Formats: sequence, structure tokens, C-alpha cells
Amino acid sequence: MTAAAFVPRTADGTDASPGAPSARLSPALKQATPIVVDHASGTWITGTDGRRYLDFTTGIGVTSTGHCHPRVVAAAREQVGKIIHAQYTTVMHTPLLELTEKLGTVLPTGLDSVFYANSGSEAVEASIRLARMATGRPNIIAFHGGFHGRTVAAATLTTAGTKFRSGFAPMMGGVHIAPFPYAFRYGWDLDTAVTFALRELDYLLQTVSAVADTAAFIIEPVLGDGGYLPTPPAFLDGLRERADRHGIVLIVDEVQAGVGRTGKFWGHQFSDSTPDVLITAKGLASGFPISAIAASTALMSTALPGSQGGTYGGNAVAAAAAVATLDVVEDEGLVENARLRGEQLLGGLRAIAARHDQIGDARGLGLMAAFEFVDDAGDADPGAALALQKAALDRDLLLLTCGALGNVVRIIPPLVVTRDEVELGLERIADAC
Ligand code: PLP
Repeated sequence: MTAAAFVPRTADGTDASPGAPSARLSPALKQATPIVVDHASGTWITGTDGRRYLDFTTGIGVTSTGHCHPRVVAAAREQVGKIIHAQYTTVMHTPLLELTEKLGTVLPTGLDSVFYANSGSEAVEASIRLARMATGRPNIIAFHGGFHGRTVAAATLTTAGTKFRSGFAPMMGGVHIAPFPYAFRYGWDLDTAVTFALRELDYLLQTVSAVADTAAFIIEPVLGDGGYLPTPPAFLDGLRERADRHGIVLIVDEVQAGVGRTGKFWGHQFSDSTPDVLITAKGLASGFPISAIAASTALMSTALPGSQGGTYGGNAVAAAAAVATLDVVEDEGLVENARLRGEQLLGGLRAIAARHDQIGDARGLGLMAAFEFVDDAGDADPGAALALQKAALDRDLLLLTCGALGNVVRIIPPLVVTRDEVELGLERIADAC
């Protein structure tokens, strides 16, 4: 087969004239708005057109301390002048030591060993490898509607929509998906949904993924891309009990829900159960890429030195920004602010939902709040979710859609959001509905 000569094309498919720029952003980026950011501060983004937007997306739950928090900016600036990158398998740098010490004050007791990567997906991959190494078992059980990332192993665990897997097969082997207690979709109360999901999990362990083959359960405290569905505490307790009984590793994916977003420092803390492995990323460094994987030293020691992580993992500037972020979260009482502003937000959303039949459910935990849209037949209505997102944009309010069926609008202000900003956001949402 002869390769066709490469001809640069413009976005509309015509040849780019010589000297004209031929590179374009990939359509795979799927930008939801036409905004190009000039600068941002706190809860506000200013576009290059000078328009100011109330940002209730936070870069998908990342800019926890708001955009460009002065202390995070100062810490990163200072670190850039000292050392930008030092590979931790060769030399250690102080920001990573400080970050580990700081995380030690907030991590659940017993999770005393921390490893670093750059992204949520990498942390998910590391946690799966760890569970397989520690147990010598191949299978991982994830839950329907979960989102764990886009790398092949993480995407295999992801069922928050078909687009993350469709066309990419074959995916990683040894993964099984069990039902999530999605009470609203089943039309059940929460207790019934939890009982059903735990029974189905037991059935799966008896018929598909034998206990002797099952290394781990992986679950989010709040399904993120899957539609902002809080995991019921009783369900997490049920997983913990089964994990203990069967020697299965319980991985809690706090990539989106961690670092105060739910109104507790970790989202799993709404239950009494502690995971064996906790992974976190997004809000950890207010926008700098870093992720952390925490486990007991005994569990972590099963991974061979050098077998996990990557070149940039635990970058010095990102680690310095993470230390500053954790300091700000503590000093400014942001976990409590997330709880209080989350209550205000959810109260307002419920009042709006009561006036609109197509909003089937208004739900949330802290500053992870959502509307789920349904049509007259009670089926998912992704068009209504997109329409709200667009109408909000017309009112200079940024919102995100999500949900395995695309019919959820999620509302994710930064942890520094003020009472007035929540009120303003609610006014704009009410107007846009
Ligand atoms: N896990 C959860 C719960 C997430 O929400 C995400 C990203 O949205 C990931 C994992 C993947 O993280 P990343 O996009 O940084 O790879």
C-alpha cells in the first residue's frame, strides 16, 4: 500500500495555502463554549472579548481555591525559581516532602504511604496495579456509571457513557461492572437500591468474578461524569464489609470528590468505612497537574520500586502548589464553606426544580450539585441539559453537562465561592431554565 502524500488542510477541508498555519485544534477537544480566556480570578473568568463569566465549572472540579489564588500563585512562582523538575527516583525535592507531611494530617489513619503521578487516570492505573500485585488476583470490579479516566485501563473501568470505550476495544481484561444504587433511575428509594446493588454484587462474585480472582472494588464517593450521584454510605459500608470478608482491596477514587469538595475533606467520610487505597487529583493543586495514591505501607510495599509512576510524577511546582492549596483549604475553612455554600446551592436548585417538570432530580453533596433532566415519559433528556447549559452561557454563567446518558447538568463552583456568588448563580440558572 502506498501512503498518500500528506496535504495540510484547513478546518473546512481545503488545502492550506503555503505559509498559512495548517495546524488546528482537534475536533476531539469538543469545546463547549467559544470562550478564549484572557485571565481569571476566584470564581470569575474574563474572556479575550472582555466579557466576565461566573465559573461554576472550575475546569471540571480542579480550581478548588478559585482561579489564581494569590497564595497558590506565590508558591508556584517561588518554586519555579528554585527547581522546576527533579525526578524523584534520583533526587527528592522539598515540596514533595512537605506535601506528603501535609497529606499525612488529612489522610485516613493507616493510609500512611503516598505515591505521586500527574493525573487522575494515572493514579487509577497505579491503584489497579497495586491491588493486583498485593492480592495476586486479576479482576477488578467497578460500578455502572463510574468514571475513572481515559487511558485504556481507566477507560475499561469507565461506564459513564459509551464514548469512552466505543471504538477503542479491546479494553483491558479482567474488569467487571456491577450495578450502582441509582435510586432515581430505578424509581426506587435509596434503601431498596442499595439492597439490590449489594445483592447483584454478591451474585457477580458467585457467578462471574470468583472471590479468589477478585483483586479490587473501585468506586467514586460521588459518581462524577456519571451524573453527580452520591454513593450511599450504606453501599460503601457494604463494599467494605465484603472487601474485608474476601480479602479484596477497596479503592476509593477521590479524584473529583476529594479535598473538601463534598463538604467533608474526603467524600468517603460520609460513611464510617475507610478504603485500602485512596486516590486523589483535581482539586489537590488548584490547577497544577498532580495526583496522589495513598495506601498502607504494607500494601504499597508490594509494588516493586520503579514499577509505578512516570517521568513527571510529583513535579516540584505542582507539589508546591498542592502544599499551598492544602494550607489555603485549612486556613480559610474551605471544607466548611463547601458544606455551607453547598446547602445554599442545593436548596436553591431544589426550589427551581419544583417549578420545572423536566427537572426530575436535583441532588448534590457539598459543591457537587446537579439537575437530572427527563422528558414526559420519564426518559433521559440530554437535549434539555444542553439547552440549560447554552441558556446559562447566554447569561454569562458557565455550567457543565454530564451523566452516562448526557442528561445531567453539573454545578461545580470553587470552594471559595461566596454566598452572593451562589445567589447570583442561582438567579441566572432560574432565569435560564
Ligand atoms: N477519576 C475520577 C473520579 C474523575 O472524575 C476523573 C476525571 O474527571 C478521573 C478519574 C481521570 O482523571 P484525569 O482526567 O486527570 O486523568
